[in-house]
Amino acid sequence: MQESSSITAIKGIGEKTRAVFEKVGVFSVRDLLRYYPRDYETFGQPVEIAALQEEGVQTVCGTLQADASVRRVRGLQIVNARIADGSGRLSLVWFNMPYLKNALRSGSRYVFRGKVVRKGSGLTMDQPLLYSPDRYREMMGTRYPVYRLTKGLTNRLVADAVKQALAECDLQTDPLPEEVRREFHLAEINFALQTIHFPRDEVELNMARRRLVFEEFFYFILALRILREGNERAGNDFPAGPSPSAEALVRSLPYDLTGAQKKVWKEICADLSGPSAMNRLIQGDVGSGKTVVALMALLAMTDSGRQGALMAPTEVLAAQHARSIREQLAKAGIEREVTLLTGSMTAKEKREARVKIGSGEADIIVGTHAVFQEQVVFHDLGLVITDEQHRFGVRQRETLSEKSGGGCAHVLVMSATPIPRTLAIILYGDLDISVLDEMPAERRPVKNAVIGPKDRAKAYAFLEKEIAAGRQAYVICAMVEEGEMNGVENVAEYSEKLREALPGRRILSLHGRMKGKEKREIMEAFAAGQADVLVSTTVVEVGVNVPNATVMMIENAERFGLAQLHQLRGRVGRGADQSYCIFVNGSEEERQNKRLEVLRKSNDGFFIASEDLRMRGPGDFFGVRQSGVVEFAIGDVFTDADILKAAGECVTDFLKRDPGLSEPGHEALRGYLDKYLAEGIGRVNL
Ligand code: ADP
Ligand code: MG
Repeated sequence: MQESSSITAIKGIGEKTRAVFEKVGVFSVRDLLRYYPRDYETFGQPVEIAALQEEGVQTVCGTLQADASVRRVRGLQIVNARIADGSGRLSLVWFNMPYLKNALRSGSRYVFRGKVVRKGSGLTMDQPLLYSPDRYREMMGTRYPVYRLTKGLTNRLVADAVKQALAECDLQTDPLPEEVRREFHLAEINFALQTIHFPRDEVELNMARRRLVFEEFFYFILALRILREGNERAGNDFPAGPSPSAEALVRSLPYDLTGAQKKVWKEICADLSGPSAMNRLIQGDVGSGKTVVALMALLAMTDSGRQGALMAPTEVLAAQHARSIREQLAKAGIEREVTLLTGSMTAKEKREARVKIGSGEADIIVGTHAVFQEQVVFHDLGLVITDEQHRFGVRQRETLSEKSGGGCAHVLVMSATPIPRTLAIILYGDLDISVLDEMPAERRPVKNAVIGPKDRAKAYAFLEKEIAAGRQAYVICAMVEEGEMNGVENVAEYSEKLREALPGRRILSLHGRMKGKEKREIMEAFAAGQADVLVSTTVVEVGVNVPNATVMMIENAERFGLAQLHQLRGRVGRGADQSYCIFVNGSEEERQNKRLEVLRKSNDGFFIASEDLRMRGPGDFFGVRQSGVVEFAIGDVFTDADILKAAGECVTDFLKRDPGLSEPGHEALRGYLDKYLAEGIGRVNL
């Protein structure tokens, strides 16, 4: 078996499993070996049922009391079972795993490992993993990898496949040149791969991880530099002069632009009329007003007769942008055809949109990233704006700019990711950087509260008061992991509970499993004020703008990263009214209190990111990961900032010594890099 072999070379992986692996970006044995665990589990001694604590993952060993039962509730198949040991009884529940009913035998003993929660008067173990006592005994004391999963992919399946690949795949030549490894004390590749999946101890794990993080950053930066060299700065194929309609828009706004917005707008104007194509990143904290600047740029482009496109990461956000742009243009009396293109539109709607885009009838095109990567032919695209760009994919940016056909379109990337400038220069090496470092003046800072579950009733009373005053609220339920059923469960169950707590109030629910169209409609209804509360998973995390919403209540706030909580909080405080954010801390841990305290005290994204980093400390890379920010497979631009810098310097030296990557000992690197470039940088995450 070789690195390049398809994963079907692994015993037990057939067509069906191959298709599931593909969904998580694993095609070859190489991809599989680099499908790094997101965490590790240590298997401890099972405890007695009577000793179980509410909260947290625990292990018990018990005898099944009767056959398991299956029932259907709102499209979910729920399997229930009961076990007992000498000390007590425990109920178990699984969602959408009906086959378990036949796998479990009444009267047999099993080990169950899962999260224990209180349901009604007793304790329940949610979605436990199941082992035979023998198998569990073998695993006890070892560290076992935990992988990101998706429907159809179990942790054991991945772990077993990786184990086989490690045992049978030919040893690899290290693609990192020897001198680099020596200089930075980096572990050898075969050792690193073996160890990252099945570490023997903490020290070895850290060595392996450091090596793989370095490697990931090294390739990324190297590819970035090489691409940029090959690309002389493109000329300005779509020059745009002063824009009367951008000015008309500004006059029509109910507010004055901030000094920072004016400054960035000047920079954009200079780019648009300058000698080369714009390639600019706008960095600005949530709520700093990036969208209006983007719209001004789009207008400048359409004033010169070209098309401009705005892309968002989610359908919800794309639809919202289209809607609000239409509204703002109408208010300003500016006539432009704004065309929306998203994946959930019907085939007919999409076709019509494509025709408008191709004929040039569409002036401003708004869509999701995914759609733009498909076949869309533009009539005359002069500007591509990407909103909420958290990803560092260089290829992606290139592809978009190439879409314009007639020349090289201007590129504007907007991000709220609070990366320090030194790191931004490394990560966005090919972009100029503008910073929106000023919040609109009349904005009142969001007031924050951290509460325990006991105070929920008070929080509901507060919601009720705000609703009575005509405002709206969001309530966020945690979805622990994508693909997990809890998100759906939580949102549906929670909405029911909330209906009882807030009788007569209009409550809508939103979660990631809904169809795109349904999501859009719900979001539109909420934005139009047709509901008082939106109970949602984090699908509203980025960019959503409903200025009348003044309360953000986040359940199980301890499960989110600080940056993600900051993004969520950014959904309120967008209008003139005082807004509030309530973090419900479901954990007793002191550490969680400290973490949430940072948010309570500060509304500043940069400060929060740096505090997060400080509290997590080096090595705590498996804490709650920064959402959106971490788009590398293993590296974390915050916690691994020092490795990122080292890799950046290393690449600079390296290219000085061997710009063509042609010296002996660098062949492996060359081959690897070609592949990397061909597949698109950071492909796994794009
Ligand atoms: P973000 O930078 O997070 O994308 P938005 O562009 O969505 O922020 O702006 C957030 C809110 O602030 C919007 O409701 C927008 O209309 C408003 N806004 C933007 N610029 C200003 C300003 N200069 N003064 C007051 N409000 C502003
Ligand atoms: Mg935004």
